[in-house]
Amino acid sequence: MQKHIFELDDFRTRKPQIKALFRLKKRYPNFKATLFTLLGLSLERELAKLASLDWVELALHGWDHFSELSWGYWEARHFLEYAETVGCFVPLFKMPWNRMPRLGFIKALKEQGVCLVTPKKTQALILRAAGLTVACYTPDFWLHPVELSGLKSLGVRRKSRFKFSSDCL
Ligand SMILES: [Zn+2]
Repeated sequence: MQKHIFELDDFRTRKPQIKALFRLKKRYPNFKATLFTLLGLSLERELAKLASLDWVELALHGWDHFSELSWGYWEARHFLEYAETVGCFVPLFKMPWNRMPRLGFIKALKEQGVCLVTPKKTQALILRAAGLTVACYTPDFWLHPVELSGLKSLGVRRKSRFKFSSDCL
């Protein structure tokens, strides 16, 4: 049976977002969610609580959805090392707006063993040629916090099965 991928981008540890996720879990017993998180806008203790749930996976989406675009090697490396010390994340990174990371950024991702997630096939080809591990797919459900608020149904059967984004690796 097909397993759905549910991704939430721009996640930060805000109560309404977390509540909405729990609401979906209540409706879909097999629900799993991969949260592409903005680390600089999140509380670490809340992240730790979420990471301990077996139906939640935390992945990286950057610091604040803005500064990442200009990051070179050292900024990216500091960020990735810091994320590792937080210890809540699977090694997946999605660039804000799926932009192309700068060369130094690519190097840092490679060194830290972090896989870049993108739905863009050409971008995936270029980055793979640069030696980066890339997961290229379009998730079944791809939401942002504004679309999550008030969402009660995903329009699929109650017993539908889900998988994490990291299961695509
Ligand atoms: Zn985003």
